[in-house]
Amino acid sequence: MKGKNVFLHTCCGPCSIEPVTYLQKNHYEITAFFYNPNIHPFKEFERRVEAMRQIGSSLNFRLIFSPKGYSLDLWIEKVQKAIKEPSKRCRICYEIRLKETAMMARKMKFNLFSTTLLYSIYQDHNAIAEVAHQIANEIGINFLYCDFRNFWKNGQKRAREYGIYMQPYCGCIMSEQERYKKAIKRMNNSFTEEFNAQDVNLDNNGIK
Ligand code: SF4
Repeated sequence: MKGKNVFLHTCCGPCSIEPVTYLQKNHYEITAFFYNPNIHPFKEFERRVEAMRQIGSSLNFRLIFSPKGYSLDLWIEKVQKAIKEPSKRCRICYEIRLKETAMMARKMKFNLFSTTLLYSIYQDHNAIAEVAHQIANEIGINFLYCDFRNFWKNGQKRAREYGIYMQPYCGCIMSEQERYKKAIKRMNNSFTEEFNAQDVNLDNNGIK
């Protein structure tokens, strides 16, 4: 495959809008690849898949879903040692997704890959670029770096106009917990207060 064909890892529908538009305007032929075992739980994964399909058909680009599908076990196995260290965990998470993308790109005879992860203002942009370049060297494929973050506001506006699902957290169950940490703290405190207000005796079969 020659010319401006790019194999584009897509993390979700909302984050794909502006990168796809930019690449199309710059005459790239896009084949998008959805491989995100970091999205949990399954019902959330389903909603994001649906949003991805909507954007694929609205912007008219080729979209391939990894046959590995929903792979929670695989993701947990790889990140478990870093589960409580967000920066390490996210780096491994980028590696899992980008390595699979680069390998699939090679199998499909592409010589260039990229990722919509470079669009998010909430991700570790430098780590993504670094990981992607390393993988490109290892696998023997080119990586197309673009700083899509400048399009963030417009992308959010367009996602709302399309009416697609816009997720409130990054993807993994840890990021969901981080997103709601204040509400979780409030709930836990109220449980403790309620528990303490009840006449519970822990030394005598639970009842005073
Ligand atoms: S916060 Fe996002 S990038 Fe980091 S590990 Fe979780 S899903 Fe992956």
